[in-house]
Amino acid sequence: MKLPLSHIQPTDLPITCVTIDVEEYFQASAANAAIPRDRWLDWPSRVERCVVTALDILERTGARATFFFLAHTAKENPKLAPRCLAAGHEIASHGAMHDPLTGLDPAVFRKDIHASRKLLEDQVGQKVLGYRAPSWSLTHRTQWAVDAVRETGFAYDASIVPTADALAWPHYIQREPDDPPLLEVPPLVHRKSTPHYAAGGRTFGPPDPGATDKAIAQALDEGRPVVLCFDIWEFDTDLPRLPLSMKQRSAMNKGVEKTADRLETVINRGGLWRPIRHHLDMLQRKAAQTGVLTLQPAATA
Ligand SMILES: [Zn+2]
Repeated sequence: MKLPLSHIQPTDLPITCVTIDVEEYFQASAANAAIPRDRWLDWPSRVERCVVTALDILERTGARATFFFLAHTAKENPKLAPRCLAAGHEIASHGAMHDPLTGLDPAVFRKDIHASRKLLEDQVGQKVLGYRAPSWSLTHRTQWAVDAVRETGFAYDASIVPTADALAWPHYIQREPDDPPLLEVPPLVHRKSTPHYAAGGRTFGPPDPGATDKAIAQALDEGRPVVLCFDIWEFDTDLPRLPLSMKQRSAMNKGVEKTADRLETVINRGGLWRPIRHHLDMLQRKAAQTGVLTLQPAATA
């Protein structure tokens, strides 16, 4: 199956991005309650093998991706981010310790993202332009974080799951009319679900195996960017058995055995898959057309 690219003008090539959040499986949101931070190092690290799997797929397919590194993971595995950069990928920030913004004090958050960005920049010797909050936790309730992300020097944020059509396009966000705006690059979402959830990874699978394919085709038809989202541990077909409830285990494990194949398949269907920073000019132009949106509760509930 080919993606419907034929009607798109050559000057308006589709923006297609693979984004991968790099964190250990025991740092994932679903594992939070079961594995407290002081027990993280009791569990075997598996992130390197997952990164290798993802890098192999990207190399085979000629795609280049954006890796949002958790600073804790990057610090424990200092060769990983430089390795991804050397393979042609973008290094971006997923914060320091995977604390959802809802539980953070704004001052603590500022320190968190400043330190995490500096750690990554020291590792890769390049400016880090992008930020993604843990667990999609940048919402109207935590909109104070927008200022901190912008003031820390990030060129874009990729944290907000769109809940309205306008939010599905790249756009600028601000809290107050006179604030300098911040570029928001939203993930592709399954728009028919409530709440909308980011497309990628396990969402290629049940209950609707074609849902992500449809979401991609629809976005390309409308000229919207396709930003697919993966967690790196979704490439692990042998995840250790964490002490989770059935629901939590299902949230983490369902469909992971197919993640690698699905990523390779979707890339091979076509499109120029490049990091977000590669598309930044075009994303800014599209965002300028969408305009500046404030994070009103009604728009981001
Ligand atoms: Zn994460």
